[in-house]
Amino acid sequence: MDVTKPPRPAWVEIDIAKLRRNFELFAADRPAGLQFMSVVKDDAYGHGIVQVSRVAQQFGCAFLGVVTVDEADELRRSGISAPILLLGERTDDELDFACTKNLTCCVNDLRVAEKLAQLSVKYARPIPVHVEIDTGMSRYGVRWSEALPLLQALADMPELLLEGVMSHFAMSDELDKSFAMTQLQRFNEVLNQIQEERISVKYRHMCNTGGYLDLPMAYFDMVRVGTLPLGVYPSRVCRRIAGLQPVMSVKARISTIRPLEVGDVVGYGMHYTAQTPRRIAVLPIGYGDGFPRVRNTGHVLIRGKGAPIVGGNAMDAMMVDITDIPGVGLWDEAVLLGQQGEMEITARDLADWRGSVTYESMICWRSRLPRKYLNGEPA
Ligand SMILES: *Cc1c(COP(=O)(O)O)cnc(C)c1O
Repeated sequence: MDVTKPPRPAWVEIDIAKLRRNFELFAADRPAGLQFMSVVKDDAYGHGIVQVSRVAQQFGCAFLGVVTVDEADELRRSGISAPILLLGERTDDELDFACTKNLTCCVNDLRVAEKLAQLSVKYARPIPVHVEIDTGMSRYGVRWSEALPLLQALADMPELLLEGVMSHFAMSDELDKSFAMTQLQRFNEVLNQIQEERISVKYRHMCNTGGYLDLPMAYFDMVRVGTLPLGVYPSRVCRRIAGLQPVMSVKARISTIRPLEVGDVVGYGMHYTAQTPRRIAVLPIGYGDGFPRVRNTGHVLIRGKGAPIVGGNAMDAMMVDITDIPGVGLWDEAVLLGQQGEMEITARDLADWRGSVTYESMICWRSRLPRKYLNGEPA
């Protein structure tokens, strides 16, 4: 007999209606004429690279931004034809592959520029490139003080089309904007230098979400947003956009309910001992699914109330205290990230329990946790 595979009682929920609403709010918030790149690296921060890219395209993104060639390849295989910028550095083999798939690369030194110029002959077309200026992140790009000769050389190569000049903020979302302003000044210096040389570029871009929210003086032609349309802020203090809502939730159903007697211990490492009779619920989800490996820290939502995590959670299970929540039943739904009734567990909460940033609360969910899409993507 054919029995359809049942869904696992633990899952990630992605609400496409909320994603669309966030893109609408972002469009209303954005000054006319300011273009945007939707950064969809790492499976659009765990939300599904193809699903998020389709919506981003419907809302008019100028570029999709990814980091690995695999990510870009997945987009092309899904029939997405939008311009794609590969962020970071490429191996020689990747440069060739990028050209066949019409992916735009960053060029941060002459070696890569010359390699792409050769490929331009092979592909019989000029190759568009973006140059990253390292203004203080010390990650990718040509150092701002050494950028002009590279940009001049590129502008003189007929095989290449200098389409973009970009930089990246090391700290754009905190109250102290002094280093961000230093970086902006360095970027402006380079832009002024190339303007004097009459080198023109279509896209000058510097802002990530933090920069978009708080540094309008750094908008230039385009901003690169990853977390913003997902409804999660990069920090506690950056500007808020009214109505923006997190797109991702994580849920699991209670698989066991058991009483604890005084003196009973819970979980690996014996980190919790019941001081009074308790009732606990076991959720079939653990650090093997991406939940932080906490001990006696944090809570989940059950019947609209917080149920504290007790003991150390396991790879595949975690125990929560439901003594003070009446009427809990087997296979009731627990929320590990997101809203239930009036209560919410935010990416910020999970980040605090893990000792990390909100980004990790989105990208942490592993592939064995199924994704459920709500308010589906239109065909
Ligand atoms: C990831 C990334 C972004 C997007 O950052 P958010 O804070 O998610 O908006 C923008 N630019 C570069 C270079 C990145 O690596």
